[in-house]
Amino acid sequence: MKNIILIAPPGAGKGTQAKMLCDKYDMVHISVGDLLRKEVSENGPYAQQLEEKMSQGLLVDDELILKIMNQRLNEEDCEKGFILDGFPRNINQAILLDEMSKQIDYVIYLDVSKETLKNRIVGRVICPKCGSSFNTLIEESRPKKDNVCDTCGSQLEKRKDDSLETFEKRYDTYIKETEPILDYYKGKNNLYSISSTDKEEVFDTIKSILGV
Ligand code: AMP
Repeated sequence: MKNIILIAPPGAGKGTQAKMLCDKYDMVHISVGDLLRKEVSENGPYAQQLEEKMSQGLLVDDELILKIMNQRLNEEDCEKGFILDGFPRNINQAILLDEMSKQIDYVIYLDVSKETLKNRIVGRVICPKCGSSFNTLIEESRPKKDNVCDTCGSQLEKRKDDSLETFEKRYDTYIKETEPILDYYKGKNNLYSISSTDKEEVFDTIKSILGV
C-alpha cells in the first residue's frame, strides 16, 4: 500500500476516512491528535505542555511533534503504508517530513465549509476505546443507544476541545498555519481535493484516487 497525507480543517472527517481505509486495507492510521491525547491521559512528561496548547486550539511546538513523529514513522508497521492524520500541520512540519525521507504518494485535501464543520464539532462524541465517532446533532450519525458506542459498546465521550469557542480558535489556526501547506504540495503534483460532505462518497473518491 501507499503512504498518504490527509489535510483538512477540524471536523472534516480525516479520522473517519483514515479509519475506514484501515478497516478495509492493511494500512496504519497515525493520528497525531490521538497520540497527543494519549500522552495527556497517561500524564506523560509532556502532558501539561500539551494540554495547555490543545485546550486553546493552538498547535503544539514543532520540536515535540517532530520527536513523536520521527519515532512513530520508524516503527515497523509503517512499512505496510501509512495514513497521516494531523501531520504536517504547518509549512515547517511539511519541510521536516520531507527531511525524514519518507515517500509520500498522495496528499488528499478534504474541503468542507466552516458552517458544516461547526455542527460536526459541537455535536461530536467519540469512543475512547475503538475511536469510532458519532454526532448527536446529525440524525444519521447518532449512536443507536444514547452515549454508547455502536461498534464496541463503550461509553462515549466528548473531546475537551470540541466546544464552539475552541472550534473557532482551531479553525483560525487551521486557516493561518495549515491551509498554506496546500500550496506547498500543489507544487509537488500529488495533491487531490475532495469537496463532498457525504462520508461514503468521500471514501469512494479516495479509493478511486488510490486506484483500489
Ligand atoms: P486533532 O485531533 O487532529 O484535531 O488535534 C487536536 C489538537 O492536537 C490540535 O488542535 C493541536 O493542538 C494538536 N495537534 C495535533 N496535530 C498537531 C501537529 N501536527 N502539530 C501541532 N499540534 C498538533
